[in-house]
Amino acid sequence: MRTAIYPGSFDPITNGHLDLVARAAKLFDRVIVAVANNDAKKSLFTLDERTSMVRQAIAEWPKVEADCFEGLLVNYVERRAGDAIVRGLRAVSDFEFEFQLALMNRKLNERVETIFMMPKESYTFLSSRLVKEIARLGGDVSSFVPQHVRAALTTKLNP
Ligand code: ADP
Repeated sequence: MRTAIYPGSFDPITNGHLDLVARAAKLFDRVIVAVANNDAKKSLFTLDERTSMVRQAIAEWPKVEADCFEGLLVNYVERRAGDAIVRGLRAVSDFEFEFQLALMNRKLNERVETIFMMPKESYTFLSSRLVKEIARLGGDVSSFVPQHVRAALTTKLNP
């Protein structure tokens, strides 16, 4: 049983993230989408909101589950008996940070490998940050996020 852990802020989950989850599910027996509780990063949605949006987005995929974690990623990966960390690379600009992160995680725990995957080209420009900005300015985000995420954005930004 091979398990991949896909960690991130998912603030909120986008179709780009989901494209990656689908790709990882082809390679692994189980994929855990792990929502990080990172106090240093100010998020629009709470940890519970982010996790439940992920859970709803992956509901139809039996191999995939949603979870959240706090603290060091490598410790969480050990706890969940993960074999690999999956991260996405959209462009060269993602590379430097991701490379550093992967090597640091390896330093912290040699057993855990990091695998990089590329989304479909049409998602390479997509980020949670841009989705939030577009939604905040009243733009249409329906082709970037699932319907329930779009609804959550509308509620959050126009209370
Ligand atoms: P973080 O705050 O950890 O970067 P994100 O939720 O922004 O969390 O992203 C989690 C992972 O998903 C990162 O590896 C990021 O590069 C990747 N990712 C984000 N958006 C996309 C996308 N549109 N296509 C592919 N990968 C993506």
